Amino acid sequence: MKLRLDESELVACVGCGLCLPHCPTYRVTGDELTSPRGRIAAMLAVSENRATVDATFHQSMDTCIQCRACEAACPSGVQFGHLMEDTRRAQAPERPWPRRVIETIAYRGVLPRRRVLAGLTRLTAVAQRARLVPKRFGLPLLPLRSPAPLVSDPAPDAFLFTGCVMDAWQRDTHRAALRVMRATGARVGLPDPGADCCGALHIHAGRHDDAVRLATRVMRAFPGTAPIVVDSAGCGAALLDYGRLLGTPEAVAFSERVVDFSSFVRDRGVTTRPGGPTVVVQDPCHLRHVQKTHLAVGEILGAAYDVRVTADDGLCCGAGGAFSVFEPDLSNAVRDRKVAALRSAAGTDQFIVASANPGCAMHLAAAGLDVRHPAELLEDRLGPD
Ligand code: SF4
Ligand code: SF4
Repeated sequence: MKLRLDESELVACVGCGLCLPHCPTYRVTGDELTSPRGRIAAMLAVSENRATVDATFHQSMDTCIQCRACEAACPSGVQFGHLMEDTRRAQAPERPWPRRVIETIAYRGVLPRRRVLAGLTRLTAVAQRARLVPKRFGLPLLPLRSPAPLVSDPAPDAFLFTGCVMDAWQRDTHRAALRVMRATGARVGLPDPGADCCGALHIHAGRHDDAVRLATRVMRAFPGTAPIVVDSAGCGAALLDYGRLLGTPEAVAFSERVVDFSSFVRDRGVTTRPGGPTVVVQDPCHLRHVQKTHLAVGEILGAAYDVRVTADDGLCCGAGGAFSVFEPDLSNAVRDRKVAALRSAAGTDQFIVASANPGCAMHLAAAGLDVRHPAELLEDRLGPD
């Protein structure tokens, strides 16, 4: 296996260790191999042919949640996210064949195919009602019927990105986002066919070529120059990185149109009724560490709810795309800390968690929390007193 990493990025790490307390996996294990510094050292050793790729190397890389908290904390500006994405790209062809087959079906045959995903969603919904889906999978109760389609405004001045799993499983969140965006005075359009999946999960899994294909399709589905509003933190981070992924001026221009839902609403303004219950904001890593727009969530909810924030510097919840599937024990141990931080911030048993990322929302809901998207919370309290 050949790692093709940007050497200037690798050697930028001076080994200071300031990132360690921010790393959710190091916090759980206390093991250098599951820290950002240890992972970078392992990448460097392999890149310089001082070490071979073995089970320990794979373990060190696979236990990374790709939360990028280390990147935000690093005084040397090490671009850890890109290093890990490129490492996963090298690892992908080395996976055992059963995993490669399953991933190919999931990433090529299901996620970017709207009809297949809808059919599988219905099958899973039936299986859930027959109690055939183990609770430990952490899936929400899926709808038996396809939810009603979303409706586009004529002559839109903004788009809503709808994506794959979120559109199939949580379309009502998109519906709430549309309603709130319209309450700001926006005319909201939906993408043309082709924007079925942003490729974020593909990039996490090292499936670079698939991600490039999907990104190219997504870009074609948003003609014009209107802003593209994204109500999923992970998808937003992926769309914002299309400039780097594709390396073209068109992709850079496309990424400049991408804006997170909460920032869009905050900047345009919306009227809500005060007096809502206690809401604790969970900062999805891709909103806080990558997009750096997490404060907008508390700002838009603040007029309507008793908003609280956690005192854990936005520590990851452990969801991490498919991380909770492949590393369930570590994922749950990371989540336990997050749940404790959320409960402590609430100061009461009666509280709602606001999460702007569908993966985080599902992972936290599986731990018994009442989790809702900021768009749904705002929709509930739209309008004057
Ligand atoms: S990644 Fe950054 S913060 Fe972490 S050890 Fe290296 S230089 Fe220090
Ligand atoms: S991306 Fe997150 S889990 Fe991975 S090394 Fe950095 S802080 Fe740790």
